[in-house]
Amino acid sequence: MIMSKNRYRSSRGAIVLNAIALAVTILPIISIGWWTFDMVKPDSRQTVSLQQIEARPAPRLHEEPLVTVTFDDGWESIYSEAAPIMGQYQIASTQYILPSQFNAPQYMSVGQALSMRQAGHEITSHTYTHANLTKLSDKQIKEELDTSIEVLKKFDLIDEDNLNFAAPLGATDSRVMSHVESRFASTRNVMGDLGKDISGNDMTLPGKLDRYNITGYTVGQYTTDEQFQGALNYAKKHNAWFIPIYHQIDDSGDKYSVTPETFERHMKMIKASGIKTGTMREVLRSEESQ
Ligand SMILES: [Zn+2]
Repeated sequence: MIMSKNRYRSSRGAIVLNAIALAVTILPIISIGWWTFDMVKPDSRQTVSLQQIEARPAPRLHEEPLVTVTFDDGWESIYSEAAPIMGQYQIASTQYILPSQFNAPQYMSVGQALSMRQAGHEITSHTYTHANLTKLSDKQIKEELDTSIEVLKKFDLIDEDNLNFAAPLGATDSRVMSHVESRFASTRNVMGDLGKDISGNDMTLPGKLDRYNITGYTVGQYTTDEQFQGALNYAKKHNAWFIPIYHQIDDSGDKYSVTPETFERHMKMIKASGIKTGTMREVLRSEESQ
């Protein structure tokens, strides 16, 4: 902070101004410190703990059907509405989140994300700001990916090894993928849509895992129970890996919102199917151990 000496000649005036300058400098530092402290506390109001990951039988890709419940963007409603339901049904999800949004309205705070991680959900990157990576320069792509990893790491939301990734809008090309593959262990795409009946052509079938092109199925308010059940039936019949993709879990009626009631029916259908569930990390680890 630089002040003009010519304009403030009296020494008393200078002291007052210095005091003001000091306050202006220090107060934001104190409040940022407080804000950070507050953000980093795990928020344990609503999260129901899942069984310890170790205690759950390891999901085994190719040998049995599997479901991985995934979420994109890190909406706060995932924490407030979906997490308690998943806790009830003992389903651990993979959360592709946007670390730039931690302090934004309608998005999960750091504390909420931490609380989800501690309950057994996998937190990982969906880039830093939800940029369409195919439209960025190499330098910008690196920044989007590296900043997301740095911030998640800073808040103890990830283990650095075997990080999984999902690109915003599913937008990738070979240039983007060269950056992604050097940092992440997998990429989930958005090739599937649960507004259609499942032909299964895109679902990961036994022996057909392509780590950097794993098909996810977008679930929206348009998805019928029959379509959801159809995907589970297909997975069961073919030992396939069904990966639904959710966004907000609320009553907004947005195209990609699902109501808490519908979400609960889906979780119930998964449980009733008898198909094992696991996070991306768990499923891909089981693949490595074979
Ligand atoms: Zn997204």
